[in-house]
Amino acid sequence: MLLDPDGKSFMVRLSEQDSLHHHKGAVRLVDLIGQAEGTEIRSTQGRLFTAVRPRLMDYVLRMPRKSGIVYPKDAAQLMNWADIGPGHRVLESGVGSGALTLALLRAVGERGQVIGYEQRADFIELALSNIHAFGGAQAGNLLLRERDIYEGIVDTELDRVVLDLAEPWQVLPYLPGALRPGGWVAAYTPSIIQASQFVEEARATRKYVQVETHEVLIRGWHIDAVAVRPEQHMVGHTGFVTVARLICAASEAGRQVRPA
Ligand code: SAH
Repeated sequence: MLLDPDGKSFMVRLSEQDSLHHHKGAVRLVDLIGQAEGTEIRSTQGRLFTAVRPRLMDYVLRMPRKSGIVYPKDAAQLMNWADIGPGHRVLESGVGSGALTLALLRAVGERGQVIGYEQRADFIELALSNIHAFGGAQAGNLLLRERDIYEGIVDTELDRVVLDLAEPWQVLPYLPGALRPGGWVAAYTPSIIQASQFVEEARATRKYVQVETHEVLIRGWHIDAVAVRPEQHMVGHTGFVTVARLICAASEAGRQVRPA
């Protein structure tokens, strides 16, 4: 990523032939190959740029996409609420453009695994291309299956299940047996009606505890001498994150149900 003195940034892929064409001159990318991160470089018209690797979030917001994505602010908090960490085996569906997959891969690390169920082959191709262009997967920690998750889950011993599709409640019947007891399911939904239906259906099974729905609002601040104030623009809405934790439910026969 090339940063200019006005705070603008330009994402490029280094190659021997290409240049970044800026209205203040061209930057030859070959001159950056092999240089340290943070290297400063001048364009043909003398404009100074700083070269750094993009953060995962910089990359995800600019990579090609054909679907809505889980925004970095939501992906970050989802890792907290669903308690996703190194070594976890996480099932994700759908995979879409691979934005959340990249965040999950980073969270589970090379000892963990992300298994993605995606029903559309063109999305699998796009996600793989986005993930590999960032170097996001490490040997063996990503498995994508072309499958409709509404038809069932073929994987077992999952630590976490993360859903970003229109009717996440359709997946609930398949979780016992696939998700280990104590494991978390998370559903990302743009509409609160979807979140509500997911919560009600999860509760009705009596197999979940710690059912919570949250949204993330982030307000940046502008700090420049005495002008110290919140940014005027912010992202007002992306999606809601609902999480729930699967338990070993007592068998229906043995359950003591107290009258309301
Ligand atoms: N979380 C992704 C975006 C997912 S968009 C990201 O951050 O990039 C929703 C995806 O779910 C689409 O690709 C769609 O094809 C897929 N999908 C919808 N219903 C599905 C189902 N029943 N089984 C598998 N994938 C499904």
